[in-house]
Amino acid sequence: MTDCLFCGIVAEKVKANVVFKNDYVVVFKDINPKAPVHLLIIPRKHIAGVLDIEPEDSAIIGEIFQVAARLARDHGIAESGFRVTVNSGPDAGQSVFHLHYHLLGGRQMTWPPG
Ligand code: AMP
Ligand code: ZN
Repeated sequence: MTDCLFCGIVAEKVKANVVFKNDYVVVFKDINPKAPVHLLIIPRKHIAGVLDIEPEDSAIIGEIFQVAARLARDHGIAESGFRVTVNSGPDAGQSVFHLHYHLLGGRQMTWPPG
């Protein structure tokens, strides 16, 4: 989609620190990391957010979690623990409207989240 920052990263028109990509997803380092490991896992397909996921996107969503587990292992946070988080809407602080899963780890997390 034009004017979408993360579509620009998928198309390699916007620079990002990409750590993994396959047919379904692109993963890059968050520009403003909130933990020692803070990656964003995004579908190549433009999906604006959780509310916009369609039944035909099920394979993409499954792939995102498989990639999250793989990257957690690769970054040494599988055993210590990590979070996979999606923000939706104003109360959650969603700021980019291309579906993205935050993979956060490498420090003790608090609960409940702020
Ligand atoms: P959210 O607030 O859940 O919508 O998350 C958006 C995330 O995207 C934030 O954590 C930002 O730091 C991150 N972000 C915004 N622009 C970029 C960029 N160009 N490259 C990497 N991460 C970005
Ligand atoms: Zn997009």
